[in-house]
Amino acid sequence: MSILASNLLAAESSLAVGAPQAERKEQLPAYSAVGLVTGVAERRLKEDIRAAARRLGFQLCGFARADSVPHAAFVRQWIDGGNAGGMRYLERSLAQRLDPRHALPAVRSVITVGYRYLPPPVPPVDWQREMRGRIAAYALGADYHRTVAERLRALAAQIAELRPGAVLRPAVDTSAVLEREWAALGGMGWFGKNTNILHNENGSYFFLGELLTDLALDPDPPIADHCGTCTRCLDLCPTEALQPGYVLDARLCISYLTIEHRGTIPVPLRAKLGNWIFGCDVCQEVCPWNEKLVRERGAPSDLLPYLPDLARLSEQQFRNRFRGSAIRRATREGLVRNVMVALGNTRNPGAVSVLAAALLDDPSAVVRQHAAWALGRIGDRGARRGLDAARRREADIAARAAIDAAIEEGAQ
Ligand code: SF4
Ligand code: SF4
Repeated sequence: MSILASNLLAAESSLAVGAPQAERKEQLPAYSAVGLVTGVAERRLKEDIRAAARRLGFQLCGFARADSVPHAAFVRQWIDGGNAGGMRYLERSLAQRLDPRHALPAVRSVITVGYRYLPPPVPPVDWQREMRGRIAAYALGADYHRTVAERLRALAAQIAELRPGAVLRPAVDTSAVLEREWAALGGMGWFGKNTNILHNENGSYFFLGELLTDLALDPDPPIADHCGTCTRCLDLCPTEALQPGYVLDARLCISYLTIEHRGTIPVPLRAKLGNWIFGCDVCQEVCPWNEKLVRERGAPSDLLPYLPDLARLSEQQFRNRFRGSAIRRATREGLVRNVMVALGNTRNPGAVSVLAAALLDDPSAVVRQHAAWALGRIGDRGARRGLDAARRREADIAARAAIDAAIEEGAQ
């Protein structure tokens, strides 16, 4: 999963477990002179938490001291530079993201857990001939927010049994928490140049979750960077969204564009999207640390859905088909818009009738604009007929302009 899909979503979690701070102040362990409890009891507590996390399916578990994050200046600069695209909520909740004490003044430690998923192998199909889209592996199956949130709540409940009265607030993806910062600070991996957290045995295919707690727990040592001189993710990113210095320009990232971005996708980027219709796994797939981490068998039809089926989805059909799935985040308009782009990128005349129908009938002007672009990209006689027919009926100014641009492109 990309940084964007997994780590930059908003909305505050309110899953606090345990008694209010005032009720259990006396039970807090005391800090030593260096501010950390290093006694046998606390080490034992960490082992018990790790064991509980493992039993709940979290392969990774790390502990960090809750403080302002060391990369605060970098994050500010990244946002000020416009790299967050339309994710304005990042700015709105920045203070909380940079220092969890803004969200929970009592917090003393951040427990981060990693829940691994293994992507299925990608079947060697000719996606252009077969008109198959591509979905990021993390989005297959049930929405991971729910899966991880349920397990985090269970972990919080188990810790509360070990330390009655402890404050434990779970956070999964949608909380104002810089997840990867805490994972790196808690020794769960290093920041890869693809901006994901990498672990030398588990690669980057895991979801993160955090428990903010008032328990004072000895932090785990950080893991050294093992990217070395490798630059595969930077070199192979289809849109050059990754830049040296761990900078991801969300405005160029396919994950952002296909999931978070609302409205039209900039024309110069559309051809680069290929068949990605929800997310993008390229910078993870090419990473040597992920090479061996592929499930033996997969669900190719889910990974590579037939595009014409998705092009016709009504709002209700979208809701039914993706109930309980992370794909709902894209919205029907966003997903069908992406499908139009992917169909155009097939350059397959077989896609023309579906695109022409969408151009005539889809209720979304955004979808119609992308359908026009896609017909222009295919550019055969049938595509031209579809564009001409729609032009006579199109009332939306932007969609009409897209039709004109597509006709003009075909004429050149
Ligand atoms: Fe984004 Fe590039 Fe990574 Fe794809 S390969 S998720 S476009 S940064
Ligand atoms: Fe690091 Fe190479 Fe993986 Fe990129 S592909 S994250 S540079 S090891």
